[in-house]
Amino acid sequence: MAGKDNNTEEGGKKPSLNFIESMIERDLQSQLHGDKVLTRFPPEPNGYLHIGHAKAISLSFGLAQKYNGNCNLRFDDTNPVTEEDEYVQAIKEDIKWLGFSWAGEHYTSDYFDQLYDWAIALIKMGKAYVDDQTAEEIAATRGTPTRPGVESPFRNRSVEENLQLLEGMKNGEFNDGAKVLRAKIDMSSPNMHLRDPAMYRIKKVIHHRTGDKWCIYPMYDFAHGQSDYIEGITHSLCTLEFEVHRPLYDWFLDQILEDKDGYRPRQTEFARLNLNYTIMSKRKLLQLVEEGHVSGWDDPRMPTISGMRRRGYTPNSIRNFTEKVGIAKRNNIIDVALLEHSVREDLNKISNRVFAVLDPIKVILTNYPEGQEEEMMAVNNPEDENAGKRPVIFSRELYIERDDFMEDPPKKFFRLGPDRTVRLKYGYIIKCNDFEKDADGNITTLYCEYYPDSRSGSDTSGVKVKGTIHWLSAAHAVPAEIRMYDRLFNDEDPAGHKDQDFVEFLNPDSLKLLPNAFVEKSLVKAMPLDHFQFERKGYFSADVETSPEKPIFNLTVTLRDSWARFNNK
Ligand code: ATP
Ligand code: MG
Repeated sequence: MAGKDNNTEEGGKKPSLNFIESMIERDLQSQLHGDKVLTRFPPEPNGYLHIGHAKAISLSFGLAQKYNGNCNLRFDDTNPVTEEDEYVQAIKEDIKWLGFSWAGEHYTSDYFDQLYDWAIALIKMGKAYVDDQTAEEIAATRGTPTRPGVESPFRNRSVEENLQLLEGMKNGEFNDGAKVLRAKIDMSSPNMHLRDPAMYRIKKVIHHRTGDKWCIYPMYDFAHGQSDYIEGITHSLCTLEFEVHRPLYDWFLDQILEDKDGYRPRQTEFARLNLNYTIMSKRKLLQLVEEGHVSGWDDPRMPTISGMRRRGYTPNSIRNFTEKVGIAKRNNIIDVALLEHSVREDLNKISNRVFAVLDPIKVILTNYPEGQEEEMMAVNNPEDENAGKRPVIFSRELYIERDDFMEDPPKKFFRLGPDRTVRLKYGYIIKCNDFEKDADGNITTLYCEYYPDSRSGSDTSGVKVKGTIHWLSAAHAVPAEIRMYDRLFNDEDPAGHKDQDFVEFLNPDSLKLLPNAFVEKSLVKAMPLDHFQFERKGYFSADVETSPEKPIFNLTVTLRDSWARFNNK
C-alpha cells in the first residue's frame, strides 16, 4: 500500500528517470522544441487546492525547474457557474506557499475571442455544427462503446446556417441548453469522445472575469489543447482520466495548426494521487464546507493545502511526500501514514521542543522549600545545535500528565506510582508518597519528595530510575487551547461506498478540545503557524488565531510513526 515506486530514492539508490523525465530528455536530445521546456498547471478555480493538486504542482513545476524551463499557471475558467475569484486568490497563495513560482499567469478566458474564431473556422471547414437536440437526446444517441451512435438530424446544416446560429448563440438569442456547437467527427468512433463532442454550450451566467461579455462557454476539450498551443506549452501533463481525451486534444490541434510540421504541444498522462482515509474531489470538499462538517476550506482536518498549512504541515513535508510517491502510469492508493511520516521527518528537524501538559494533575514536592525557584536549561532542538537552550522554571508545585501516574501500576510501568520514582526532565528525581482524590475518584494531587542531590547534569544521588517525564511549574504554566485532531474519516475509502454517502463516514472524534491544558510560558510569544514538538506528545503548531492572551495550538501529528515502524525505517 505505501508508496513504493522504482523512481524513488528509497534505500539511497541513485534515482532513475521516471517516464516523463525520460520523454523530456529524449525531446531535448532531438531538439523537438529546441532547449525549451514549458509546462503548465491548469486548475479550475472552483475550489481550494488539495493534496492531489500538490502532486500535479510538484510534477509540472518540478520538471520545469529540473530542465531549466518554466511553468505557467493557467486558470481553466470555462465554467462560470462554479468559479469564483476567491478561489483564484487561494490557489495562487497555496502554490506560492509550496515554494513554486510561475512564469506566466494566464486564464483560459483570455483566449475566448481566439477560441471563438477557431470555432468559426471549423464551421467553415464543415467540421462543426449547431445541434438543436436537448442534452438528453444527445446523450441517448451517443451509443455505447460497442454500439455506434446516431447522427443528429442537424448534423448536415449548411455552413451559412451554422455560422448564423453560432452568432445567435453568442448574442444571447437562445436559452441555456437550447443549442450546442458540436465538432463533426465520427459518430461510430470506438472512442466515445470523438462522437461529435460538444465545443460550446449556452450559459447565461456572469463570469468572474469576462462579466456578461459571453453567454456561450467553450468545453474543456475545445479549450485545453488550444490554450496549450497559444502559450507555447511543450509538455502538457495531466491525470490518467484524460488519456481517452487525448485523440480529441490532437484532433482539434490538427484542425487549427497552420504549420502541420511545426510546433505542437503534447499531452502526457500520469496516475492521480489517491490517499486512503481521504476524499479529494473539490465538489465533495465543498459539500463538507457548506454543510458545516468543517469550519472552512482551511479547517486543519481538510486535505486542502490551506488546511494542511493551518494544521502545521510544512511545504517541504508535502513536496517530499509527493516525491516519495513518485510518478506512476497506473492508479494506486497511497497510505496517508506516508504523508504523516514525511511531516514528522521535516518537523523533527525544525521544531523546537517545549513542555506542555495536556491533561494535568498537580504534584506538590513536600520537601522543596516554599517560594524557591530554579532555572533549568532545556535543549531547544537536539537535531539542531544552533537552536540553543532556554530556561524553564522549577518550583514546589508542578503539573505532570495524568497518565504518567498510576495508582496501581503494572511492573513494566516506569513512570510514577505510589512509592515509585521517576525523573523530571532537566530537573530532579521525585518519589510519590501520597495522593488525593476528588469525590468522583479522580486523582487531584500527588504528594512527592524530591532528591536534592539528583539534579540533572549533577546527579550524585545514586538513585536509579527507568522513566523520565515532562512537567511544568504550576505558577508559571500558561493555560492554552489545544485542539487535538484525528482523521476526518474513519473509513479507508469514504467515497467508495455505493449505497452510503461519504459524510456517513465522518469521524465524530476528529476534533477534541482539551479543557485544562497548560503550556510553558515561552509559548505565549508563538507566532501563527510556528512549529513545536510538545515533548512526548506530538508536533503542534500555533493556530492562525493564537494570541498572547489566548494561546491556541493545533495538533499537527502525533509522535508515533506507524508507517516507519511498518516499513522498518
Ligand atoms: P477535482 O476532481 O478535485 O475537482 P480536478 O481534476 O477537477 O479535481 P482541476 O482544478 O481541474 O481539478 O485540476 C488541476 C490539475 O490538477 C489537473 O491537471 C488535474 O489532473 C490535477 N489533479 C487533480 N487532482 C489530482 C490528483 N488527485 N492527483 C494528481 N493530480 C491531480
Ligand atoms: Mg477538472
